[in-house]
Amino acid sequence: MKRDIEKIASRAYDVVIIGGGIYGAWALWDATLRGLSALLIDKSDFGGATSSNSLKIIHGGLRYLQHLDIKRMRESIHERKVLMSIAPQFVHPLPCVMPTYGHGIKGKEVMGMAMLMNDIIGFDRNKGCDPQKKLPAGKAISKDELLKILPGLDETNLTGGAIWYDCQVYNSERLLISVIKSAVKKGASAANYAQVTEFITTKDKVVGVKIRDELTGKQFEIRSKIVLNTSGPWINNMLGQLNGHQPAEKFQLSKAMNLVVNKRITQTHAAGIPSKFEFKDSDAVINKGSRLLFFTPWRDYTLIGTTHVPFPGDPNDFAITEDDVTTFLDEFNQAYPAMAVKREEVVYYYGGLLPMDDTGERASEHDVKLTKHYKLLDHQAENGLDGLVSVLGVKYTTARDVATKAVNILMKKLNRQGKTETENTVISGGEIPDFESYLQDENKKRPWGLNADIIEHLILNFGKDYPEVLEFLSENEQWKEKVVSDSDVLFAEIVHGIRDEMAVRLVDVVKRRTELGSGGYPGDTAAKNCADLMANELGWDEEKKQTELEFLQRSYLTAK
Ligand SMILES: Cc1cc2nc3c(=O)[nH]c(=O)nc-3n(C[C@H](O)[C@H](O)[C@H](O)COP(=O)(O)OP(=O)(O)OC[C@H]3O[C@@H](n4cnc5c(N)ncnc54)[C@H](O)[C@@H]3O)c2cc1C
Repeated sequence: MKRDIEKIASRAYDVVIIGGGIYGAWALWDATLRGLSALLIDKSDFGGATSSNSLKIIHGGLRYLQHLDIKRMRESIHERKVLMSIAPQFVHPLPCVMPTYGHGIKGKEVMGMAMLMNDIIGFDRNKGCDPQKKLPAGKAISKDELLKILPGLDETNLTGGAIWYDCQVYNSERLLISVIKSAVKKGASAANYAQVTEFITTKDKVVGVKIRDELTGKQFEIRSKIVLNTSGPWINNMLGQLNGHQPAEKFQLSKAMNLVVNKRITQTHAAGIPSKFEFKDSDAVINKGSRLLFFTPWRDYTLIGTTHVPFPGDPNDFAITEDDVTTFLDEFNQAYPAMAVKREEVVYYYGGLLPMDDTGERASEHDVKLTKHYKLLDHQAENGLDGLVSVLGVKYTTARDVATKAVNILMKKLNRQGKTETENTVISGGEIPDFESYLQDENKKRPWGLNADIIEHLILNFGKDYPEVLEFLSENEQWKEKVVSDSDVLFAEIVHGIRDEMAVRLVDVVKRRTELGSGGYPGDTAAKNCADLMANELGWDEEKKQTELEFLQRSYLTAK
């Protein structure tokens, strides 16, 4: 996968996709498998916006049970199962727990029933999945069992807990890159750091886009039969460019944030505990007055999510402030005082913008009503402009399915035949029907004398494609060394990111091609070692290297 804007701009496409978040990535893969010539472009790095900022839960939608939204639950359960099958290197089971209070609506008996309903609705949740990754049935547990998982939790009115199973993505950034790579291996085109600056239109039709190469400033015009807009939070900015065809209403956005804490709060289970902050969920059947704070073990960290506040500004001005972090930390510590997470233990944060509904009335600043359903807009029907379809997604979990629905619209408009194949086609590196056995087999082989921890690390990040990373060792065996002693990332992964995965900035390698900095700043030694290798590969001078190092450091800081 090489970045070559001159080459991609020298031809026309069936579809140009604007935005390489998870929605654009799946759309590229789907369109390519259906035989469309497709180009994906992102103004920054692939997955550099909302999609690398998720809590990494692939959830079966248990929370929708409280809205009795069975259709949405089925969609989520189905997607969880599909992702376990087509991206088994990344998606793994995650036990989850929730405390129960009293014997009423939030009590153990009702929650036990809810777990049973969850299992009945998800009766086929394990169909066709790796037998070693089966998601067991949920159950109610005693107060003592609950307190073993969540020690020190306030015991007032506590009666026990409920356990269910979801999934977690080990590396959501690499999952996204692997989807794009799968498409490129099958003939799709893609480029990062290429901004769509304008739509090219005839009277009532979009016929292409103007793009600017953000690395060189060069401008290009690219023609396509249709354009798919998956620009996520930038949807208003993109549609604002449609002279005379802008939609009447703008989409409202909320700022969402997770904290990354440098210790495990629970060892085995993700947990949802009630926030003490005021919240009003008028659609909920079970719990109208409180929302759950969800925290999950991930690698050596805990991710705590998710807080929301309305964001009326421009997505280009989005930033997480120190106040955002301390307010959310305070909310978590009020909900679970025994954990007393200190500010200095919060080593990073994930932040992004999500669509919300403007209800007008709110119980507090944090009372945000997130948009529940994705939006698919055929602008011909919406505002009389042919050749443009927009997608506004609400979940990482369901992105593949929504992208499929978007490509269905494209196929119809292009008068082309063909059903989606993404549901049954494993992504690049995912040909692993039995994950544990594969791990054991590869450990026996011990390629290049690498130890078991490194092999597991490589498989969790690259799946069955990990030999592609090790191929670079034939050129320089020293690249099998770790970038820094407290991480398993090898120099070979950096070279692979640059040469095979379009990493062009230091931040791309540190945060998205490797797991080095996805949980926080990896330290000056690691950053410098990466920058030295990148400078060598890409011909950076000392000044450029310093600029990249400073940019990386700044990306971990909160705004004032
Ligand atoms: C804090 C947080 C936690 C979350 N946790 C979860 C979770 O646990 N599970 C779950 O399922 N979902 C979760 N989500 C939701 C999920 O992350 C999002 O729904 C999803 O990532 C949105 O993807 P997207 O592709 O629509 O947007 P994005 O990832 O933002 O992609 C849009 C892309 O468009 C590009 N773009 C914009 N304008 C242009 C232009 N003019 N030219 C070229 N490119 C352009 C941008 O650079 C960007 O990369 C979470 C979200 C947040 C913020």
